[in-house]
Amino acid sequence: APRLYTSPVPSQPIPASSIFTHLFASPPHDPNTIGGFPASTPAFVDAESRTVLTRAQTKHFALCLAYGLKHHLDVNAKRGDVVLVFSQNSLSWPVALFGSVAAGLRCTLANSAYTPKELAFQYSDSGARLLFTSEEGLATVLAMFKLLGVDAAEARRRIVVLEAALEWAGGPSMPRTALGRGLKTLADLLSLGKVQEEERFDGRDTHETVYLCYSSGTTGKPKGVETTHQNVIAVLEIVKTTFPKLSVGTDSVLGILPFYHIYGAVKLVHFPWTSGTPVVIQPRFDPEKFCAAIERYKITHALIVPPVLVVMARHPAVDKYDISSLKSLFSGAAPLGAALVKQVTERVQRRKGGKGEFTILQGYGLTETSPTTHLLPVPDAIRKVGSIGVLLPNLQARLLVDGDGNGDVEAKEGEPGELWIRGPTIMKGYLNNPAATKDSITPDGWFKTGDIAVRDNEGYYYIVDRRKELIKYKGFQVPPAELESLLLTHPDIADVAVIGVYSAKEATELPRAYVVHAHPEQVKTEAAKAAFQQAVRKWTKERVARHKQLRGGVVVIDVIPKSAAGKILRRELRERAKTELAGR
Ligand code: AMP
Repeated sequence: APRLYTSPVPSQPIPASSIFTHLFASPPHDPNTIGGFPASTPAFVDAESRTVLTRAQTKHFALCLAYGLKHHLDVNAKRGDVVLVFSQNSLSWPVALFGSVAAGLRCTLANSAYTPKELAFQYSDSGARLLFTSEEGLATVLAMFKLLGVDAAEARRRIVVLEAALEWAGGPSMPRTALGRGLKTLADLLSLGKVQEEERFDGRDTHETVYLCYSSGTTGKPKGVETTHQNVIAVLEIVKTTFPKLSVGTDSVLGILPFYHIYGAVKLVHFPWTSGTPVVIQPRFDPEKFCAAIERYKITHALIVPPVLVVMARHPAVDKYDISSLKSLFSGAAPLGAALVKQVTERVQRRKGGKGEFTILQGYGLTETSPTTHLLPVPDAIRKVGSIGVLLPNLQARLLVDGDGNGDVEAKEGEPGELWIRGPTIMKGYLNNPAATKDSITPDGWFKTGDIAVRDNEGYYYIVDRRKELIKYKGFQVPPAELESLLLTHPDIADVAVIGVYSAKEATELPRAYVVHAHPEQVKTEAAKAAFQQAVRKWTKERVARHKQLRGGVVVIDVIPKSAAGKILRRELRERAKTELAGR
């Protein structure tokens, strides 16, 4: 019988409805509350312009947008249609997202640094027929439609421009770029002036897909992860049990993580809302602006990725601003080192001068698990530093090891094994990809994370390794298969393998390519090799989003180590890289 692990926290009831109904309900006996909190409570704040959206405004604009999406003649969206969101964080985001959800649409969230080609893949693969973009993203979007052979008039019909400054919410007006002129905007959709009743997804319909973020899973190229209404409601309910308690009126959350990653989408756009806590939005992490916002908005909690802590450990901005309101920093999406946690905890505690508690916490999860499965409870922040914490309620876990020809078998108590998870937050599957779905979810519902974990005798988990090929740069996925197939199109590259190498200095992995030159005689000398390596880095940089650049270097190699079946022996390359980089 499998050794099943469960959560120390009691199971939670999970309502069966649409995520919109779950978050925005106003009971008839209490019409001035929305989702359990006063309608006038601030919900989202633009850090730069200080524009505020209250809960009432967020709901009103979302329902206006739902009406516009369904009735604007250019759009005429129907329940189940897919809309792609391509934008850095802004106040328009929650409105675009919740308006789409209220209209019954499915939203696919794309990395705002994507190139036209990367975006074209997701747009087509997800079956999107409509696209929200910031003005900043417009050039990429227009180039994408060109790549896809969509004519200019049709492209115009499919684009809705998000205005970051939210003129429609009473913020300052923004100048239009030349590109953006003549395109329809969020304001145009809102200006139809009517509100739409939300589409319902009650009962069984709660299992319909609502978000499609892209993940490469354990192998291959990015795939659409079908996250359902039920998955999101479940994750909000189970996270609430263990996350630091957020209080209405006193707490506020700083939102720098990208909303297009499931971590930002769920933990920033949805989760604080369930406690009536405002989210102060910044488009990206900038140390100076980050600390300034903590001071200005008396921020109590921020969600981050490990590289942010590297900055917090050293940057002068930490001493320049009053950050004493800060109660916790919550790290996820990539491995976090204990030494870094201690260093930053001490620095921030010093800055707080003993005024109140401060902790750095960690969570773990995947796009496929909506995302959070583990959280470190506040009282354990130091005692269990380095741990991803305990399994959340309503979930079950197993740890599996290779059984030498007997398939996967249970790891012994306290031994590392691949983490498998079962429960209501596991995705429905990979979009239009039954083969990949079958590879990652067993017939009895166990999702294979591809991560190697250890569980200590008190039920705290530690991620110690990765069984899958994925690389993470500052929390962003870099699927090696994607870079490898790109690099194989380089005329001078005969074969290639991409792995991740860890940089303690930046607290992140960096993608590193091993390449076999098509004409080895051309790279005989060290100088020729170095020139070729530089050229490959530059060539790649011109073709991929920022996070996929070969920051870990390019190495010329005679032959890529492969198994008899032709599989790249990544472990061997990782060992090799360790030696090559030792002492650097
Ligand atoms: P994503 O789907 O982009 O969220 O990536 C999920 C992957 O990120 C996991 O399978 C892990 O490999 C990694 N990951 C997420 N959180 C952590 C963490 N706290 N520690 C180590 N790795 C993590």
